Amino acid sequence: QPQLPDLVIVGAGLFGLTVAERCAEELGLRVLILERRHHLGGNAYSERDPETNVEVHKYGAHLFHTSNQRVWDYANRFTSFTDYKHRVFGKYQGQVYSLPLNLALINQFFGTSHTPDEARALIAEQSSEVATEDATNLEEKAISLIGRPLYEAFIKGYTAKQWQTDPTELSADIITRLPVRYTFENGWFSDTYEGLPVDGYTAWLTKMADHPNIEVRLETDFFEVADDYRGKVPIVYTGPVDEYFGNSEGRLSWRTVDLEESVVETDDFQGTGVVNYNDQEVPYTRIIEFKHFHPEREKTHLPGKSVIVHEYSRFAQEGDEPYYPVNTADDRAKLLKYRELAKAEPMVLFGGRLGTYKYLDMHMAIGSALSMYDNKLKPHFTEGAELTSGGIDA
Ligand code: FAD
Ligand code: UDP
Repeated sequence: QPQLPDLVIVGAGLFGLTVAERCAEELGLRVLILERRHHLGGNAYSERDPETNVEVHKYGAHLFHTSNQRVWDYANRFTSFTDYKHRVFGKYQGQVYSLPLNLALINQFFGTSHTPDEARALIAEQSSEVATEDATNLEEKAISLIGRPLYEAFIKGYTAKQWQTDPTELSADIITRLPVRYTFENGWFSDTYEGLPVDGYTAWLTKMADHPNIEVRLETDFFEVADDYRGKVPIVYTGPVDEYFGNSEGRLSWRTVDLEESVVETDDFQGTGVVNYNDQEVPYTRIIEFKHFHPEREKTHLPGKSVIVHEYSRFAQEGDEPYYPVNTADDRAKLLKYRELAKAEPMVLFGGRLGTYKYLDMHMAIGSALSMYDNKLKPHFTEGAELTSGGIDA
């Protein structure tokens, strides 16, 4: 019988790695991470494509951004970041626009040369049919912010493709991620810090686990070895919460994205990293061209070729990668039941994107892992505080 570790972590994504690193480094605990994939890093994992030497994010484009000083300082212990600033362009009816909604887009779309005040007045008039505080769903929220013509051009078709759900049934929150600006500023994010890991995501994530007290066991599904650990040692579980309980309350619904990767015979396919396709008739939502994320690596990219990925969004079936929580009323009812079960589960904490059924950006996954460490794990291991999740870490 091999010696038990002090802590078992299920899932080697950013959440699990952050908890592991803190417990090993600060508390000197022996941590075992179980990961069912053949690599660590979760969805932030990336690889160099051998044909072009371009770094490809294998589970969709990952752009790091945060306004959380603690998370930024923490991430910088394992990697430095480039000064990449993310911009997104959108194609609609044969024209290319600079997203997010900004003064350049408004002027191009309406064929005007409005000042910020004139543009504000125009949008105020166009959005007057719905008051923002009365908006109860994505469509109403979008119209209340930008008016119907811009909504129909840039949001309606894209959202239909992304969610395959009527925008009046989607949560208004989804759209509040997108800024509206009455300037020519076209950075996609509005955070204090932004950049890409200089040596790539995998180098960063590997370094987090590079500690003598951390063992990462790949290609190991927790459910196949659960009896060795459950009830015997504290567990931090970052897999899907419904799966943990054998889907007893029903499956939570997710969207997945089919990522169709190809190498094209040109140095530059689209001149930028991300182009959204806002027309509903175009079947994909966007095309990613990875080399543009790292202009500083230009000389190391092999000439005459480029890696691109077409993204197609659809409802996840069993066996698909769960990417975006759909979060319907039915899902929320199931989630409440799973939270009750989680509360009653001894010595198991649930965390991360899959464990809490929440769309977490990378900085949010790190931030919430640091909170779990501060509020639950450290008090347990240093003062003997009881280890109950008190429900899923929210
Ligand atoms: P994951 O990274 O999903 O890690 C969970 C791990 O648990 C996985 O490796 C999984 O294999 C493992 N696991 C599950 N069940 C078991 C089991 N039974 N046994 C063993 N292992 C198990 N964030 C940003 O900040 N910027 C972006 O631009 C961005 N783009 C994204 C694009 C897409 C398409 C997606 C899906 C996400 C994006 N994110 C982005 C979010 C980012 O991926 C998450 O914040 C991050 O992955 C969360 O880390 P995690 O550890 O919670 O989950
Ligand atoms: N969205 C849109 N048009 C766009 C970009 C985004 O309508 O050109 C909407 C869409 O509903 C999407 C949401 O805004 O789901 C959030 O977009 P984001 O690009 O942040 O999503 P992600 O990168 O997470 O896929």
